[in-house]
Amino acid sequence: MIDIKKIREDFPILNRKVNGHDLVYFDNAATSQTPKQVIDVIVDYYSRFNSNIHRGVHKLSQEATDAYEEARIKIQKHFNVAHPYEIILTAGSTESINIIASGYSNLLNPRDEVIISALEHHSNIVPWQMMCEKTGAKLKVIPMTLEGTLDMRAYESILSSNTKLVFVNHVSNALGTINPIKEIICKAHEQGAHVLIDGAQACPHIKPDLQDLDVDFYVTSAHKLCGPTGIGMLYGKEEFLRALPPYQGGGEMISSVTFEKTTYADLPHKFEAGTPNIAGGIAFGTALDYMNEIGFDAIAAYEAELLEYATNALQKIDGIKIYGESLHKTAVISFNVSNIHPYDLGSILDQMGIAVRTGHHCAQPIMDFFEIPGTVRASFSFYNTFKEIDRMLTGIHKAVKMLQ
Ligand SMILES: *Cc1c(COP(=O)(O)O)cnc(C)c1O
Repeated sequence: MIDIKKIREDFPILNRKVNGHDLVYFDNAATSQTPKQVIDVIVDYYSRFNSNIHRGVHKLSQEATDAYEEARIKIQKHFNVAHPYEIILTAGSTESINIIASGYSNLLNPRDEVIISALEHHSNIVPWQMMCEKTGAKLKVIPMTLEGTLDMRAYESILSSNTKLVFVNHVSNALGTINPIKEIICKAHEQGAHVLIDGAQACPHIKPDLQDLDVDFYVTSAHKLCGPTGIGMLYGKEEFLRALPPYQGGGEMISSVTFEKTTYADLPHKFEAGTPNIAGGIAFGTALDYMNEIGFDAIAAYEAELLEYATNALQKIDGIKIYGESLHKTAVISFNVSNIHPYDLGSILDQMGIAVRTGHHCAQPIMDFFEIPGTVRASFSFYNTFKEIDRMLTGIHKAVKMLQ
């Protein structure tokens, strides 16, 4: 059970006034808010043991290194990963994807095919396009249905022994659809293809078991699950991480350097060149602790109630169209009302202190599919309330009156 009053006290920002109103924050799919437990850890790091890791013999450096490596183990355990060195700490999902795309740019040839889905975020499209341009490999797309789900029959028909890689998000950020990733991974493996799952939108709501999924690569960002920005992870199976070349050269990622030849450090440091986001890494671990303490089952159950409540209420509005009607979705509602431009609706809601997202949500192909410029997107988190949804509904009614 969610103790909503207690939880809301953990988030200082929820006391803010915006344009004279109490803030209603419904842009959680873009970034989540940060509990004081996570903020405190960042302050504590800079106040007590800020120092560079993995290098110093001195006390502060040892403390910082220990805290950073402890965070890696927390992440490993959270995702049920076999070894801590299979967790690479990165700047976030985008960087994680680019590390893999850049690595495979050296391994693919023009006969190879790679598959992405029609439901992807731009960060899980553009790096693969760049990789295909470089290698000549062919990019194929799993089409979507009108409900905003993936067409799995079409997926099977484009999969072949030429398929080398498959990239799909676990949950669509624009529509909230939860994709059948276990089936996607299993079918790809039958053809000998490797799979990368973009978990940026799933991890705030679902605790994935990466060994059970048997996924080859999985990426996520801390800032969508109560952690800070600029830190995230790349999980990769040991044998595949070993086979890929490093992404960036520099300090920290080497074993020895001479002008004739440099040998690379072992995992995970091979992919962690330079001084990392140390406070961010430590805080990522704390954010996972915080969410695990509440419990992902409780979070999912409460968010499902918020989603159902909001969906039922929104459906009563004249002229509303909700995009993404999968039975399996997270608490994201993308919608438009009649022919009102999403930006106009979003601006009026902002005047009332209600933060929603408007636009294409970094998923332009989905908007093209529905032939719309964008949507209004309300995305909920476990710290949101039914009352806040009521305020959004009042806001939408007012906006519709003003704009029609
Ligand atoms: C947010 C998001 C990303 C990008 O994450 P960054 O933290 O900006 O790198 C990628 N994919 C999905 C599905 C997302 O929701």
